[in-house]
Amino acid sequence: MSLQNPVFIPGPTNMPEVLRKSIDMPTMDHRSSAFADILHPAIAGVKKVLKTKDAQVFVFPSTGTGGWETALTNTLSPGDKVLAARNGMFSHRWIDMCERHGLNVTVIETPWGEGLPADRYEEVLAADKNHEIKAVLATHNETATGVVSNIGAIRKAMDAAGHPALLLVDGVSSIGSMDFRMDDWGVDIAVTGSQKGFMLPAGLAIVGVSAKARAAVETAKLHRTFFDLRDMETGYSVNGFPYTPPIGLMNGLNIACDMLLEEGLENVFARHHRIASGVRAAVDAWGLKLCATRPEWQSDTVSAIVTPEGFNATHIVTHAAEVYGMAFGTGLGEVAGKVFRIGHLGQLTDALALSGLATAEMVMVDLGLDIKLGSGVAAAQSVYRHGNPNQTKAAA
Ligand SMILES: *Cc1c(COP(=O)(O)O)cnc(C)c1O
Repeated sequence: MSLQNPVFIPGPTNMPEVLRKSIDMPTMDHRSSAFADILHPAIAGVKKVLKTKDAQVFVFPSTGTGGWETALTNTLSPGDKVLAARNGMFSHRWIDMCERHGLNVTVIETPWGEGLPADRYEEVLAADKNHEIKAVLATHNETATGVVSNIGAIRKAMDAAGHPALLLVDGVSSIGSMDFRMDDWGVDIAVTGSQKGFMLPAGLAIVGVSAKARAAVETAKLHRTFFDLRDMETGYSVNGFPYTPPIGLMNGLNIACDMLLEEGLENVFARHHRIASGVRAAVDAWGLKLCATRPEWQSDTVSAIVTPEGFNATHIVTHAAEVYGMAFGTGLGEVAGKVFRIGHLGQLTDALALSGLATAEMVMVDLGLDIKLGSGVAAAQSVYRHGNPNQTKAAA
């Protein structure tokens, strides 16, 4: 693997130099006021990225998975009913975590490659007359299949059913890269990590918590210590964590938010959309199909590409690593061997994306797939030339 090449896995993502440097900090007394000057701006920055005015933001030394556990253990009690759909490996793992915590999960089995079925959520919630379901789980972007779902539609389904459950959303591979509206969508807990849209190393679980979810903490009985929101809240009130904070990563998070907000969230989303559109044009030119079966489910952060029947897609990933020193993502779970993934989130540019597409083409031709060198690259180039917002400036 070459450390000079960009990675095309859907997290951890490529680190901008500014962020790499920002986490390189001398040892500091984490009880000094200097840490307050990192902590509070970082929290304020994350709130803007989540598009929330009302929620509280909590950051734990952990990963996205720890964010899931924070959401569950702080709001639910053993035996509580929760509703979730399984449409890929990440929604599957969150369901598995619920079961291991003794929660009673109603699972809406959804074909891998499809988005969350809001109509099925509504049916199940409407049938739950006694409001026994305490939480609704939704994976905004299923990283295993490259499928983005409509969280606003899940909120509408809950409202249509008049159901008071909490809405817990996994936004690990969407937040900071694709539009995410915590307040507008009535999300009660939003979960992400530091190593995807925030372009940092793994090490932080980042969680937005609505007032309703915060109130549930007082009665929830699942065991929690490290991830107890109340301890973290007390910590923040005296400018610290309940334990030693990862100061470098927190500094990085502060600067990462500045970078995203300076570029402008809508510009960040448009850039991801343009880069993803180029990747999709390439896939089309190769004569291949995405795992996402409808255009509205195609993710702007990761594309899972289905390879021909009888071909082991994992060979693409191993060959790319061994021969060209470039990282792509393998298929996971049900789609292992059937898809390979191109991650296109974080600090990517059109030029970087083209290098990934060009390499993927060489790999597929090496492995005997019927693909014309340059076909996907040309299709993406056309998207990038015409979609480039600087073209009009250059012409003026
Ligand atoms: C990466 C990812 C996770 C897991 O996050 P970790 O930081 O690896 O624990 C969870 N959900 C989704 C959708 C992801 O993409």
